[in-house]
Amino acid sequence: MKQLREDFPIFSQEINGYPLVYLDSAATSQKPQQVIDTVVDFYTKYNSNIHRSVHAFSEQATGMFEDTRKKVAEFIGAADSSEIIFTKGTTEGLNFVAATWGQTYVGQGDEILMTQMEHHANLLPWQQVAEKKGATLKFIPITKDGLLDLSELPNLISQKTKVVAVIHASNVLGTHVDVATIAKAAHAVGAKVVVDAAQTSPHQKLDVQKLGCDFLAFSGHKMLAPTGVGVLYIKKELHDLVPPYQFGGGMVFEACYDKSIWQFAPYKFEAGTPAISQVVGLGAAIDYYNKNINFDDARKYEAQLTAQAIDGLQQMEKIKILGPIEQLKTSGHLVTFSVDGIHSHDVAAYLSNFGVCTRAGHHCAQPLAKKLGVASSVRASFMFYNTPQEVETFLRVMQDIKL
Ligand code: PMP
Repeated sequence: MKQLREDFPIFSQEINGYPLVYLDSAATSQKPQQVIDTVVDFYTKYNSNIHRSVHAFSEQATGMFEDTRKKVAEFIGAADSSEIIFTKGTTEGLNFVAATWGQTYVGQGDEILMTQMEHHANLLPWQQVAEKKGATLKFIPITKDGLLDLSELPNLISQKTKVVAVIHASNVLGTHVDVATIAKAAHAVGAKVVVDAAQTSPHQKLDVQKLGCDFLAFSGHKMLAPTGVGVLYIKKELHDLVPPYQFGGGMVFEACYDKSIWQFAPYKFEAGTPAISQVVGLGAAIDYYNKNINFDDARKYEAQLTAQAIDGLQQMEKIKILGPIEQLKTSGHLVTFSVDGIHSHDVAAYLSNFGVCTRAGHHCAQPLAKKLGVASSVRASFMFYNTPQEVETFLRVMQDIKL
């Protein structure tokens, strides 16, 4: 892991003369030189629009773009590369599903099932569907320890359930959700399953077929790739049933003045010029993962850093750790906490004075924050490039806050 850290040029940076201690990868990851070089290379040597022109340059760029689609399909265990749709990120992917599948197939009196831990990116689009279509949102509760209470599932799921849209791992609590079990129950009543994998795609091997989901969204920027690119997986059987999300160039097979015929997937779902260089950068990020990261080892290592942080925080008074501590210590990548009597923004600002970057606030999950009674909290998140020494620095500065 130590060697891999050298691939990330940003770690030579300092804040106020202190070495950068970046504990905010759950917001966005840092980028290895290989990804940065690929993007620079693309603009230096290959830049061209794709899918449109037949000149050699365009064909080359199209090849690079489509290669990434194949890499992503393999990376998440998709059966076919046409199941990979490029988006701007998780938010756009989830909005896509709500606006297309949701607005078309959810009706009056239907139900949409979610968890109490959803990020706004998943919650708000489905709220819109419920509002417009006269459907009801239901929520799988969390236990007082921050685990998902699946014992409630049989009471919450019924023939009325049309969509089950769940987070794969909470960006606040770190809680992992057993999507495969939920998907089985959802499919038994004919509901479709949507997964927000923003917090899992960087940290564990995803297998959409094992998860049994119909749709799954994640962001490139949280997994070493540039901002501006994400992935939406749509199961092949649904391609003809899902209407296009946007309309315009690239998604149409034949356009007439009064009516048009769409392309096949994935192109039907990708109107306009996509984020070409970012997609190529995502391809380089996946190459980096494939070459350097064994997910089992990385997850164990990240959990060790998480456990180190939790153990240290637990030694301090007036700190409340949110989330399922035992689960986090064995398989987590983040710890979120509040400090009694000190606003989380002040905690994060103090940490930043010493070079330590964390995230403070409601983490785009306000209903969860309200439920927990902790309006604002601090999150430290870890990636394979972090070190135990960095966790020590974080804990030392936290200790200072308490003095
Ligand atoms: N869902 C979860 C669980 C997240 O952590 C995030 C990023 N904070 C999002 C959705 C939204 O991702 P993006 O901003 O990249 O669209």
